Amino acid sequence: MTQLEYKLHIDDVIRKVEKARLRVSGHHIVKIVAVSKYSKTQEIEALYKIGQRAFGENRVQDLKAKSQELEESPLEWHFIGNLQKNKINNLLEINPTLFQALDSYELALELQKKLETKNMTLDCLVQVNSAKEASKHGFMPEELLVMYAKIETECKNIKLRGLMSIGAHSKDKAVIKQSFDTTYKLYKALPNATICSMGMSGDFELAIECGSNMIRLGSVMFNK
Ligand SMILES: *Cc1c(COP(=O)(O)O)cnc(C)c1O
Repeated sequence: MTQLEYKLHIDDVIRKVEKARLRVSGHHIVKIVAVSKYSKTQEIEALYKIGQRAFGENRVQDLKAKSQELEESPLEWHFIGNLQKNKINNLLEINPTLFQALDSYELALELQKKLETKNMTLDCLVQVNSAKEASKHGFMPEELLVMYAKIETECKNIKLRGLMSIGAHSKDKAVIKQSFDTTYKLYKALPNATICSMGMSGDFELAIECGSNMIRLGSVMFNK
């Protein structure tokens, strides 16, 4: 694919986002985070040249390597993967724009401890397991509001900005929609939350229609 063909492909993705967003409202703004976990630095640069600025990785070591290689470019980095406690310091060294996958109370306490020591804060999203799938991380919907408030009060260096969720693993659109509706309803119940991160390459239009204002697109942005 030439650079022009690639640009036309990305235009097409953006047009789909635009259409879905306008079905919600002209005021509904959606941010695209390009998930570069399957992609090399050169591929990230090609997308950067088209205008993409926010990128996401799901492994701390990949985030470190790619953000260092691209440190001359004004990119914002999101960490979207499960964070092991022994990788917290590595993540904080990179100081990402947003950690999207705070998925347990124990992790929040560890993260808070490390943040306090380093005298820094970190913007985070709490991950919800809206479809209640054993294979997925995150808080169960019924405990979410209580745990979100608990982390907010007890972990002063963690700046909670909203929720992140992965749509139900299903071919049935109604089942996927239900998982997005669950996440959105919880998001709306949070007084200070501004980010509802849901929707991936296969389901981003539906996610936007359900209220998502941040989509995480991997394969569709990198033609994988
Ligand atoms: C890989 C990944 C994505 C992107 O997946 P695609 O289907 O390639 O768009 C989004 N969110 C998370 C948490 C991921 O791990």
